[in-house]
Amino acid sequence: FEPWNDPNVKPLIQFKNVTKRFGDFVAIDNQSFDIYAQEFFALLGPSGCGKTTMMRMLAGFETPTEGTILLAGQDIAPIPPNKRAVNMMFQSYALFPHLSVWENIAFGLKRDRMEKSAIDARVAEMLKLTRLEQFAKRKPHQISGGQRQRVALARSLAKAPKLLLLDEPLGALDAKLRQDTQFELMDIQEKTGTTFVIVTHDQEEAMTVASRVAVMDHGRIIQADTPARIYEMPKSVYVADFIGDVTIIEGRATKSGDGYDVAFAEGQPSLHAKSDKVFQNGQTCHLAIRPEKVAITAEKPEGAVNAIQGKILDIAYLGNLSTYHVELPTGQIIKSQTANTRRLSRRGFTWEDTVWLSWTETAGVLLEG
Ligand code: ATP
Repeated sequence: FEPWNDPNVKPLIQFKNVTKRFGDFVAIDNQSFDIYAQEFFALLGPSGCGKTTMMRMLAGFETPTEGTILLAGQDIAPIPPNKRAVNMMFQSYALFPHLSVWENIAFGLKRDRMEKSAIDARVAEMLKLTRLEQFAKRKPHQISGGQRQRVALARSLAKAPKLLLLDEPLGALDAKLRQDTQFELMDIQEKTGTTFVIVTHDQEEAMTVASRVAVMDHGRIIQADTPARIYEMPKSVYVADFIGDVTIIEGRATKSGDGYDVAFAEGQPSLHAKSDKVFQNGQTCHLAIRPEKVAITAEKPEGAVNAIQGKILDIAYLGNLSTYHVELPTGQIIKSQTANTRRLSRRGFTWEDTVWLSWTETAGVLLEG
């Protein structure tokens, strides 16, 4: 499922040079991108980067200052919010407290004067989809937070929108329930085939649920890609740093074989990374390395392309994994994450131990300075 790589598939949503200003403030800065039918598209980024503004423009609560947004090839600007095949589920859920679960889900259908038998059938379908059949007669205050979240979802999907916008949909749930609900959300999205656009500032959540994640910064999408590509092939230091744990080493690149040698400190060996990017000799670059790609050993490993010695400064024990912060003589810190197998725990690295860190030439990603 990679419609964005198929030139024959037309996008469901197209942003074309969209800018949104509030007074002099540029909230969205000349953005063009596409979202495809049946995608689960996540907008991710720090507070204030413009995620909600993107959503509100899709919903019709805001209009772009410049540029156009197309839905199924049609400019949505002239279409009022309630006439768009778009629905938005708010973080607060906004359920009617005096109406039962059934009536909450039926509300929009009744307002549209749908026939009674059709409403009955549609609500029953939605109750089944969200596993709420046994709660149909209860009021919102008589069900749990997770169940309320599902009522809100059922109500948003009842009118079969082409696009459902979810603003921090799991924000009100505790961590454990949140994880379970992520899988449920993915399941419901797949079953209905509705396109979901989710706003979240929880990177793990975005990576779990989304077909593609758009990482935003200051009103711009820096990279929109599959979770795996965002993680493995970040386009910039900002993206590498925003998603997951990473060590960033700044250095100077010199062409070597099918990659570059990176000189980063006096008295330290150059690091080697494969790369098809183009750097001038001596150009500043950044090497981004994920901690789980860095091996930690007592002895220098034979024939390692990158091997460097340091001292353990910190250990974060995570049960199945441990993350080591290893300080080089130059003061830089490199992180290594290793599975806590029995062998390793018996060998037991501890604070102040001198260790070797090593990684392959494809473990690090070279990024521009
Ligand atoms: P958060 O994660 O905190 O919800 P966000 O990424 O959703 O943040 P937006 O709500 O889209 O951010 O806001 C983007 C920027 O635009 C912010 O700096 C915000 O202050 C500004 N902004 C949003 N709405 C308005 C408005 N109606 N008037 C003026 N400025 C606004």
